[in-house]
Amino acid sequence: MEPRTQFYIDGKWIAPAGRGNIEVFSPADGSLLTTIPQGTPVDADTAVMAARRAFDGWSVTPVAERAVFLKKIQDSLKARGDEIAETITREMGMPLKMSKLIQVGSPTASFGMYSRMLATFPFEEQIGNSKIVREAVGVVAAITPWNYPLHQIAAKVAAALAAGCTVILKPSEIAPLNAFLLAEIIHDAGLPAGVFNLVTGYGPVVGEALVTHPEVDMVSFTGSTRAGTRVSELASATVKRVALELGGKSAAIILDDADFTVAVKGVVGNCYLNSGQTCTAHTRMLVPESRYAEAAKLAADAAQSWRTGDPMTEGIRLGPLASKMQQDRVRDYIRKGIAEGAELLTGGAELPEGVNPNGYYVAPTVFGKVKPEATIAREEIFGPVLSIITYTDEDDAVHIANYSIYGLAGGVWSATDEHAEKVARRLRTGQVEINGGPFNLYAPFGGYKQSGNGRELGKYGLEDFLEYKSMQFRPEPKA
Ligand code: NAD
Repeated sequence: MEPRTQFYIDGKWIAPAGRGNIEVFSPADGSLLTTIPQGTPVDADTAVMAARRAFDGWSVTPVAERAVFLKKIQDSLKARGDEIAETITREMGMPLKMSKLIQVGSPTASFGMYSRMLATFPFEEQIGNSKIVREAVGVVAAITPWNYPLHQIAAKVAAALAAGCTVILKPSEIAPLNAFLLAEIIHDAGLPAGVFNLVTGYGPVVGEALVTHPEVDMVSFTGSTRAGTRVSELASATVKRVALELGGKSAAIILDDADFTVAVKGVVGNCYLNSGQTCTAHTRMLVPESRYAEAAKLAADAAQSWRTGDPMTEGIRLGPLASKMQQDRVRDYIRKGIAEGAELLTGGAELPEGVNPNGYYVAPTVFGKVKPEATIAREEIFGPVLSIITYTDEDDAVHIANYSIYGLAGGVWSATDEHAEKVARRLRTGQVEINGGPFNLYAPFGGYKQSGNGRELGKYGLEDFLEYKSMQFRPEPKA
């Protein structure tokens, strides 16, 4: 792939201030894919000032006009869908068919959703003698990770642009290539100069320059809890609004009355999607003590059916992990799981058979009889590793599910939705799948506890980028 050598700032492709590059590797075979520019605080500042200049005009652009721009972006994402899917598969390793569906399908739909939403979103309301208007929060720094790279970008950029904000995007340095394609698409859509800007680089350099910049009004961050905490600390000095979407350690509770054949397969599928690199992945499967043997067998069988290999090959469901660092981390967790005494039901720390030894592969792994306090049951692994934990009764199941610093997602499986919902209401998490209910782009997405504080997607995502202003009018004098 051709190296990327420029940033998109103020409506133009421009040379970076520094000379450094960042290498982007292919997870499928460890080879060098290409390079991108390593941004500096000077580049961050140039982008912020362009966004600041563009704000006054963009924030008062009629919503119908903003909607047209978003629709154009949606149309181009669709038209260039195959190229984008292939790029994302090459840079982060999700099997191509899934990339088309999720990595391209979802961001395309997000731009469409916000384009349509602008027609009906209530930007004003009257309360007594007050007119309440909702206005763009200002210049937004969007900092994103690599696991669903364009989806996470779109959740921020589409909503922020819809709200009337201007944006500086700092994508993940591990899977940044899709962001360059989006910048091309936005340029072709004719957005006014400075409304959208792209700068790449390392988090502690470009990310922190954006987070501390006095002309940035809001930081919308998705990534690890470790980096999110740092972002919050730094942003507090200038009292920025900070929206955080962070890690998770979600539990799926399989109730005694559930159909175990369907439920266990469903949980394994949820856990292994994107090779386990999903912040909402159900990585803890909670089953009644008396049903452990049955669940363990079903889970091991399901795991073994996930074919691991080159993500460009048809029929592969489990691609490599996104980076060498991630592969090492996950294999270390597997070793730790064994060392702490969990029962290894399938998989393990060795490379799966038949894969390219230079690629970042990890075998689909299931641990049984995991104690709720074990490291693998508490820390986010971000790989294809499922822990089966047993519970004595429903109270115990709820207690174990909530026994986490995280609160992003979860699942409940039962013979009836009513029974599942009763349990779901007791979970301290931002979303719960009932009997494998599918993802809904219109529902709020975000976490409780250390999983974050914002809500993305749907109207909730738009609201995150808006301020309230209330204007008090003098009541009409009584006649
Ligand atoms: P990461 O925290 O290492 O990086 C995320 C982004 O933050 C990158 O762009 C990175 O360059 C930047 N960054 C890193 N340090 C920074 C700093 N000090 N200041 C400013 N920016 C900084 O996370 P990652 O490894 O890219 O992604 C995986 C993590 O993201 C997992 O923990 C996962 O759970 C989480 N995640 C959460 C959600 C969600 O919506 N809740 C979605 C996807 C991923």
